Amino acid sequence: MIDLKNKIAIVTGAKQGIGKGIAVMLAKAGAKVVVADLDIDECQQVCDEIKKIGSQAVAVKCDVSQKKDVDNMIEMAIKEFGKLDILVNNAGLYPFTPFDKMSEDDWDKVIDVNLKGTFLCSQSAAKVMVDGGRIIDISSIASVVGFAGLVHYCASKGGVNAMVRALALELAPRKITVNAVAPGAIQTPGASGSMTDEVLKQTIAMIPLSRMGQSEDIAGAVLYLASDLSSYVTGQTIVVDGGWILR
Ligand code: NAP
Repeated sequence: MIDLKNKIAIVTGAKQGIGKGIAVMLAKAGAKVVVADLDIDECQQVCDEIKKIGSQAVAVKCDVSQKKDVDNMIEMAIKEFGKLDILVNNAGLYPFTPFDKMSEDDWDKVIDVNLKGTFLCSQSAAKVMVDGGRIIDISSIASVVGFAGLVHYCASKGGVNAMVRALALELAPRKITVNAVAPGAIQTPGASGSMTDEVLKQTIAMIPLSRMGQSEDIAGAVLYLASDLSSYVTGQTIVVDGGWILR
Protein backbone atom coordinates (compact mmCIF):
# COMPACT_ATOMS: atom_id res chain seq x y z
CA MET A 1 0.00 0.00 0.00
CA ILE A 2 2.86 2.41 0.71
CA ASP A 3 4.47 3.33 -2.59
CA LEU A 4 7.73 5.28 -2.60
CA LYS A 5 8.44 4.78 -6.31
CA ASN A 6 10.25 7.83 -7.73
CA LYS A 7 11.27 8.91 -4.22
CA ILE A 8 14.93 9.39 -3.35
CA ALA A 9 16.05 8.73 0.22
CA ILE A 10 19.27 9.13 2.19
CA VAL A 11 19.83 7.02 5.31
CA THR A 12 22.86 7.82 7.50
CA GLY A 13 24.59 5.20 9.66
CA ALA A 14 23.07 2.64 7.28
CA LYS A 15 25.72 -0.08 7.07
CA GLN A 16 24.15 -2.06 9.93
CA GLY A 17 21.47 -2.11 12.61
CA ILE A 18 18.48 0.21 12.50
CA GLY A 19 19.87 2.25 9.58
CA LYS A 20 20.27 -0.82 7.40
CA GLY A 21 16.75 -1.98 8.32
CA ILE A 22 15.37 1.42 7.30
CA ALA A 23 17.34 1.53 4.03
CA VAL A 24 16.10 -1.93 3.03
CA MET A 25 12.47 -1.21 3.97
CA LEU A 26 12.41 2.10 2.05
CA ALA A 27 13.91 0.28 -0.96
CA LYS A 28 11.27 -2.49 -0.71
CA ALA A 29 8.64 0.28 -0.91
CA GLY A 30 10.27 1.45 -4.16
CA ALA A 31 12.58 4.27 -3.06
CA LYS A 32 16.07 4.71 -4.47
CA VAL A 33 18.43 4.89 -1.51
CA VAL A 34 21.73 6.55 -0.68
CA VAL A 35 23.35 4.27 1.92
CA ALA A 36 25.74 6.44 3.96
CA ASP A 37 28.11 5.47 6.77
CA LEU A 38 31.74 5.63 7.91
CA ASP A 39 32.75 2.47 6.01
CA ILE A 40 31.95 2.51 2.29
CA ASP A 41 32.64 -1.22 1.73
CA GLU A 42 29.98 -2.19 4.27
CA CYS A 43 27.61 0.37 2.70
CA GLN A 44 28.24 -1.30 -0.65
CA GLN A 45 27.15 -4.66 0.81
CA VAL A 46 23.83 -3.09 1.85
CA CYS A 47 23.49 -1.62 -1.67
CA ASP A 48 24.04 -5.09 -3.14
CA GLU A 49 21.20 -6.45 -0.95
CA ILE A 50 18.96 -3.61 -2.10
CA LYS A 51 19.78 -4.25 -5.76
CA LYS A 52 18.80 -7.92 -5.26
CA ILE A 53 15.31 -6.81 -4.23
CA GLY A 54 15.04 -4.79 -7.45
CA SER A 55 15.66 -1.23 -6.32
CA GLN A 56 18.58 1.14 -6.83
CA ALA A 57 21.11 2.22 -4.22
CA VAL A 58 24.42 4.00 -3.99
CA ALA A 59 27.04 3.82 -1.22
CA VAL A 60 28.59 7.00 0.20
CA LYS A 61 31.23 7.42 2.88
CA CYS A 62 30.00 10.11 5.26
CA ASP A 63 30.93 11.15 8.78
CA VAL A 64 27.82 13.12 9.72
CA SER A 65 29.78 15.34 12.10
CA GLN A 66 31.88 16.72 9.20
CA LYS A 67 30.17 19.38 7.05
CA LYS A 68 32.38 18.59 4.03
CA ASP A 69 31.31 14.91 4.12
CA VAL A 70 27.67 15.85 4.58
CA ASP A 71 27.63 18.28 1.65
CA ASN A 72 29.34 15.63 -0.49
CA MET A 73 26.66 13.06 0.48
CA ILE A 74 23.87 15.43 -0.60
CA GLU A 75 25.71 16.22 -3.86
CA MET A 76 26.07 12.48 -4.54
CA ALA A 77 22.31 11.99 -4.10
CA ILE A 78 21.59 14.76 -6.61
CA LYS A 79 24.26 13.54 -9.04
CA GLU A 80 23.07 9.92 -8.94
CA PHE A 81 19.31 10.36 -8.69
CA GLY A 82 18.57 14.02 -9.60
CA LYS A 83 16.69 15.05 -6.42
CA LEU A 84 16.15 14.32 -2.74
CA ASP A 85 12.80 13.60 -1.05
CA ILE A 86 13.59 11.83 2.24
CA LEU A 87 16.43 12.21 4.76
CA VAL A 88 16.72 9.75 7.65
CA ASN A 89 19.15 10.97 10.33
CA ASN A 90 20.01 7.64 11.93
CA ALA A 91 23.80 7.72 12.57
CA GLY A 92 24.39 7.74 16.30
CA LEU A 93 26.61 6.70 19.21
CA TYR A 94 25.64 5.60 22.72
CA PRO A 95 28.82 4.82 24.70
CA PHE A 96 28.06 4.13 28.40
CA THR A 97 30.26 6.46 30.46
CA PRO A 98 29.83 7.30 34.18
CA PHE A 99 29.30 11.05 34.58
CA ASP A 100 32.32 11.59 36.86
CA LYS A 101 34.57 9.91 34.29
CA MET A 102 33.05 11.67 31.26
CA SER A 103 35.75 13.72 29.54
CA GLU A 104 35.14 16.79 27.43
CA ASP A 105 36.06 14.65 24.40
CA ASP A 106 33.49 11.98 25.37
CA TRP A 107 30.82 14.69 25.59
CA ASP A 108 31.85 16.40 22.33
CA LYS A 109 31.92 13.16 20.31
CA VAL A 110 28.36 12.16 21.24
CA ILE A 111 26.98 15.67 20.75
CA ASP A 112 28.91 16.11 17.47
CA VAL A 113 27.52 12.94 15.90
CA ASN A 114 24.01 12.72 17.39
CA LEU A 115 23.03 16.40 17.55
CA LYS A 116 25.36 18.43 15.31
CA GLY A 117 25.30 15.65 12.69
CA THR A 118 21.50 15.83 12.61
CA PHE A 119 21.71 19.62 12.19
CA LEU A 120 24.32 19.46 9.41
CA CYS A 121 22.49 16.76 7.42
CA SER A 122 19.09 18.43 7.83
CA GLN A 123 20.39 21.84 6.74
CA SER A 124 22.23 20.53 3.70
CA ALA A 125 19.30 18.29 2.68
CA ALA A 126 16.63 20.99 3.14
CA LYS A 127 18.49 23.22 0.66
CA VAL A 128 17.90 20.71 -2.15
CA MET A 129 14.37 19.60 -1.17
CA VAL A 130 12.77 21.92 -3.69
CA ASP A 131 9.44 20.08 -3.97
CA GLY A 132 8.65 19.37 -0.31
CA GLY A 133 10.26 16.54 1.59
CA ARG A 134 10.58 14.44 4.72
CA ILE A 135 13.21 14.73 7.44
CA ILE A 136 13.04 11.85 9.91
CA ASP A 137 15.38 11.72 12.92
CA ILE A 138 16.11 8.57 14.89
CA SER A 139 15.91 9.81 18.47
CA SER A 140 15.61 7.49 21.50
CA ILE A 141 13.48 6.90 24.57
CA ALA A 142 16.56 8.39 26.28
CA SER A 143 15.21 11.73 25.03
CA VAL A 144 12.27 11.48 27.43
CA VAL A 145 13.48 9.27 30.32
CA GLY A 146 16.86 9.24 32.08
CA PHE A 147 19.52 6.53 31.75
CA ALA A 148 22.48 6.47 34.16
CA GLY A 149 25.78 6.44 32.29
CA LEU A 150 24.28 8.16 29.27
CA VAL A 151 24.09 11.82 30.31
CA HIS A 152 25.65 13.01 27.04
CA TYR A 153 23.45 10.68 24.98
CA CYS A 154 20.22 11.69 26.78
CA ALA A 155 21.13 15.37 26.25
CA SER A 156 21.84 14.77 22.55
CA LYS A 157 18.55 12.98 21.89
CA GLY A 158 16.53 15.49 23.95
CA GLY A 159 18.14 18.10 21.70
CA VAL A 160 17.04 16.15 18.63
CA ASN A 161 13.38 16.16 19.80
CA ALA A 162 13.57 19.92 20.45
CA MET A 163 15.20 20.49 17.03
CA VAL A 164 12.40 18.49 15.38
CA ARG A 165 9.76 20.85 16.81
CA ALA A 166 11.60 24.06 15.84
CA LEU A 167 12.64 22.87 12.38
CA ALA A 168 9.13 21.57 11.64
CA LEU A 169 7.88 25.16 12.08
CA GLU A 170 10.60 26.65 9.86
CA LEU A 171 10.18 24.14 7.06
CA ALA A 172 6.38 23.80 7.06
CA PRO A 173 5.93 26.63 4.50
CA ARG A 174 8.11 24.62 2.12
CA LYS A 175 6.02 21.43 2.65
CA ILE A 176 8.93 19.66 4.34
CA THR A 177 7.76 17.68 7.37
CA VAL A 178 10.18 17.01 10.24
CA ASN A 179 9.53 14.17 12.69
CA ALA A 180 11.41 11.72 14.88
CA VAL A 181 11.11 8.08 15.87
CA ALA A 182 12.25 7.27 19.41
CA PRO A 183 13.25 3.60 19.69
CA GLY A 184 13.37 1.59 22.90
CA ALA A 185 15.69 -1.42 23.16
CA ILE A 186 16.40 -2.65 19.64
CA GLN A 187 18.56 -5.67 18.79
CA THR A 188 21.41 -4.23 16.70
CA PRO A 189 25.18 -4.76 16.54
CA GLY A 190 25.63 -1.50 18.48
CA ALA A 191 23.16 -2.31 21.28
CA SER A 192 23.33 -6.07 21.68
CA GLY A 193 26.98 -6.68 20.79
CA SER A 194 28.15 -6.54 24.41
CA MET A 195 24.89 -7.61 26.12
CA THR A 196 25.19 -10.67 28.35
CA ASP A 197 22.29 -13.16 28.51
CA GLU A 198 21.52 -11.85 32.02
CA VAL A 199 21.32 -8.20 30.87
CA LEU A 200 19.17 -9.26 27.92
CA LYS A 201 16.78 -11.06 30.31
CA GLN A 202 16.62 -8.02 32.62
CA THR A 203 15.97 -5.71 29.66
CA ILE A 204 13.15 -7.88 28.29
CA ALA A 205 11.60 -7.97 31.78
CA MET A 206 11.19 -4.16 31.59
CA ILE A 207 9.36 -4.26 28.25
CA PRO A 208 5.55 -4.76 28.45
CA LEU A 209 5.49 -6.46 25.03
CA SER A 210 8.15 -8.89 26.40
CA ARG A 211 10.61 -8.81 23.55
CA MET A 212 13.51 -6.77 22.22
CA GLY A 213 12.60 -4.59 19.25
CA GLN A 214 13.97 -5.35 15.80
CA SER A 215 15.24 -2.89 13.19
CA GLU A 216 12.06 -3.55 11.19
CA ASP A 217 9.94 -2.22 14.08
CA ILE A 218 11.67 1.15 13.72
CA ALA A 219 11.75 0.99 9.92
CA GLY A 220 7.95 0.54 9.89
CA ALA A 221 7.45 3.85 11.72
CA VAL A 222 9.96 5.55 9.42
CA LEU A 223 8.14 4.17 6.38
CA TYR A 224 4.90 5.73 7.64
CA LEU A 225 6.61 9.10 8.20
CA ALA A 226 8.21 8.91 4.74
CA SER A 227 4.90 8.19 3.02
CA ASP A 228 1.84 10.19 1.98
CA LEU A 229 -0.05 8.63 4.90
CA SER A 230 1.72 11.07 7.25
CA SER A 231 1.48 14.21 5.10
CA TYR A 232 -0.37 16.11 7.90
CA VAL A 233 2.06 15.05 10.67
CA THR A 234 4.98 17.31 11.58
CA GLY A 235 7.06 18.20 14.64
CA GLN A 236 6.28 14.87 16.35
CA THR A 237 8.33 12.18 18.04
CA ILE A 238 6.80 8.70 17.78
CA VAL A 239 7.93 6.33 20.53
CA VAL A 240 8.46 2.73 19.35
CA ASP A 241 9.52 0.83 22.48
CA GLY A 242 7.17 -2.09 23.16
CA GLY A 243 5.64 0.03 25.95
CA TRP A 244 8.86 0.42 28.01
CA ILE A 245 8.31 4.04 29.10
CA LEU A 246 4.64 3.51 30.02
CA ARG A 247 5.63 2.06 33.40
P1 NAP B 1 24.69 0.72 15.47
O1 NAP B 1 24.41 -0.73 15.28
O2 NAP B 1 25.92 1.11 16.23
O3 NAP B 1 24.69 1.47 14.06
C1 NAP B 1 24.97 2.84 13.99
C2 NAP B 1 25.74 3.12 12.73
O4 NAP B 1 26.09 4.52 12.71
C3 NAP B 1 27.05 2.33 12.70
O5 NAP B 1 27.24 1.79 11.42
C4 NAP B 1 28.08 3.41 13.01
O6 NAP B 1 29.38 3.15 12.48
C5 NAP B 1 27.46 4.61 12.34
N1 NAP B 1 28.08 5.86 12.77
C6 NAP B 1 28.66 6.15 13.95
N2 NAP B 1 29.18 7.38 13.93
C7 NAP B 1 28.93 7.89 12.71
C8 NAP B 1 29.24 9.11 12.07
N3 NAP B 1 29.95 10.06 12.69
N4 NAP B 1 28.82 9.29 10.80
C9 NAP B 1 28.16 8.33 10.16
N5 NAP B 1 27.84 7.14 10.69
C10 NAP B 1 28.23 6.93 11.96
O7 NAP B 1 23.49 1.44 16.22
P2 NAP B 1 21.90 1.21 16.15
O8 NAP B 1 21.54 0.52 17.41
O9 NAP B 1 21.48 0.69 14.86
O10 NAP B 1 21.44 2.74 16.32
C11 NAP B 1 21.01 3.54 15.25
C12 NAP B 1 20.33 4.78 15.80
O11 NAP B 1 19.24 4.39 16.64
C13 NAP B 1 21.23 5.68 16.66
O12 NAP B 1 20.93 7.03 16.42
C14 NAP B 1 20.84 5.29 18.07
O13 NAP B 1 21.07 6.33 18.99
C15 NAP B 1 19.36 5.02 17.90
N6 NAP B 1 18.79 4.15 18.93
C16 NAP B 1 19.16 2.84 19.03
C17 NAP B 1 18.60 2.06 20.03
C18 NAP B 1 18.93 0.60 20.17
O14 NAP B 1 18.50 -0.01 21.17
N7 NAP B 1 19.62 -0.03 19.26
C19 NAP B 1 17.70 2.62 20.94
C20 NAP B 1 17.37 3.97 20.82
C21 NAP B 1 17.91 4.73 19.81
P3 NAP B 1 30.49 2.42 13.44
O15 NAP B 1 29.90 1.09 13.82
O16 NAP B 1 31.68 2.32 12.55
O17 NAP B 1 30.66 3.32 14.61
